[in-house]
Amino acid sequence: MTAQTDARMARLLHHRKAGLALGDPVVPPISVATTFHLPQTQGAVHYYGRAGQPTWDAVEAQLALLEDAEVVVFPSGMAAITAALLSCLKAGARVMIPSDGYYVTRLLGRDILQVYGVKVVQIPTLDMETADFAGFDVIYLETPSNPGLDTVDIAAIATRAHAAGARVIVDNTTMTPLLQRPLDLGADIVVAADTKAPAGHSDVLFGHVAGRDSALMGRVADWRRVSGSVPGPFEAYLVHRGLETLEVRLDRMCRSAAIIAERLAVHPMVRGLRYPGLPGDPSHKALGTQMANGGFLIGFELEDASTAENFLARCPLIEQATSFGGVHTAAERRARWGDDVAEGFIRLSVGVEPTEVLWQSIDAALGSEMGST
Ligand SMILES: *Cc1c(COP(=O)(O)O)cnc(C)c1O
Repeated sequence: MTAQTDARMARLLHHRKAGLALGDPVVPPISVATTFHLPQTQGAVHYYGRAGQPTWDAVEAQLALLEDAEVVVFPSGMAAITAALLSCLKAGARVMIPSDGYYVTRLLGRDILQVYGVKVVQIPTLDMETADFAGFDVIYLETPSNPGLDTVDIAAIATRAHAAGARVIVDNTTMTPLLQRPLDLGADIVVAADTKAPAGHSDVLFGHVAGRDSALMGRVADWRRVSGSVPGPFEAYLVHRGLETLEVRLDRMCRSAAIIAERLAVHPMVRGLRYPGLPGDPSHKALGTQMANGGFLIGFELEDASTAENFLARCPLIEQATSFGGVHTAAERRARWGDDVAEGFIRLSVGVEPTEVLWQSIDAALGSEMGST
């Protein structure tokens, strides 16, 4: 991580200090009030809980430091994605989304945006680099894509999209603002599921929209207030706490992932390994310029569906769960959701377990599978 990222993280940890009076709590209170003392309507910071409240403010302040942008928080990643897209689109508009990205975003396009008269065009992530953006209002990227881990050049796409009159929205969930900074690379809006690594403990749904265009971010905040897509104060508190350890968790997760990917790549049971941190990987080109490291997600194939399921069942340190970015290493066979991947394809999200203990349990589970066939 760069010196700038380190400085942001340190500021995040102490962001409340300047506002504290003698005897104030160091961590933000979970403010449950829906109404605020309002003898007059002018001049109050808060007036009603749907429009804004102190625990959101605390977590938005942290995220604003990380993103170096205005931030509006939402009750889930999908709520944030919906708010961002609907703040940029109207009936008759055209949006390009990845056909190999997070599948609920595709459902949003098909079942909601299209119904309201938005034209949604799906293309593979890798084709976005050469796709013609003429006539589009929004180019929506996910890089690395989930679960395929393909990457595209955000800066190059932003330049071409802006020339074509389109805005660029980037789903930065897999990297977080500590590892990839789409707004610095020219994206107009970042959306993210803080449900994943930022909260980090698999116990809260949360999301945010970040951007540097105040008028546009005002529309996003209006969307939240008017649609009522609001996070709860306890959820905001949990994300605030999670963000304080994001950097140390990511450090362990990404270091372990790099080591495990390297070893899996040469394992006789494993094929088609994808990890952007490995020099031979097609996504390695994004390292350094766009991604700070290879991340904590690894994709690989075992022989077939049952080999993959048996491996997952045997490994005591892999939680068989969907989702990623949590403290527990987790994995699943993505074809069970209908993803366009091989039957034996596994997405592995490396957690914070001590690296060698984790590797030994993965290696042993692969070995015993080999013995049984
Ligand atoms: C999980 C995820 C989302 C949706 O987040 P929720 O909090 O589950 O609504 C969006 N994009 C990506 C890339 C994700 O992994």
